[in-house]
Amino acid sequence: MENCIFCKIANKEIPSNFVYEDEYTVAFNDLSPQAPTHILVIPKKHFSSLNEVDDENIMSALFKAVQNVTKKLGIKEYRTVINTGEAAGQTVFHIHIHILAGRPLKWPPG
Ligand code: AMP
Ligand code: ZN
Repeated sequence: MENCIFCKIANKEIPSNFVYEDEYTVAFNDLSPQAPTHILVIPKKHFSSLNEVDDENIMSALFKAVQNVTKKLGIKEYRTVINTGEAAGQTVFHIHIHILAGRPLKWPPG
């Protein structure tokens, strides 16, 4: 999708060091990390949010990618977050799964 920063990252129009890549997904470090490890996993195909994802292959690919990223980095304890909609804190409207690790994380989130 035009003017989507994460599409540009996935298409390699913007240079980024991928932590992980497969047929359907890529993962890269968050620009503004909220924990020592803060990685974003995104589908290569554009969906504005979880509400728009209509492809079960991509749903499963996203979660498989989270497993692959954490395995690759040797991370066993981590938090995954999907913010859906502005009120939930979504600021980039291309679905992404946050992986946060490396410090104790409180619950409930703010
Ligand atoms: P959310 O608020 O859930 O939509 O998360 C968007 C995340 O994308 C934030 O944590 C931002 O720091 C991150 N972000 C925005 N632009 C970039 C970028 N160009 N590269 C990496 N991360 C980004
Ligand atoms: Zn996009």
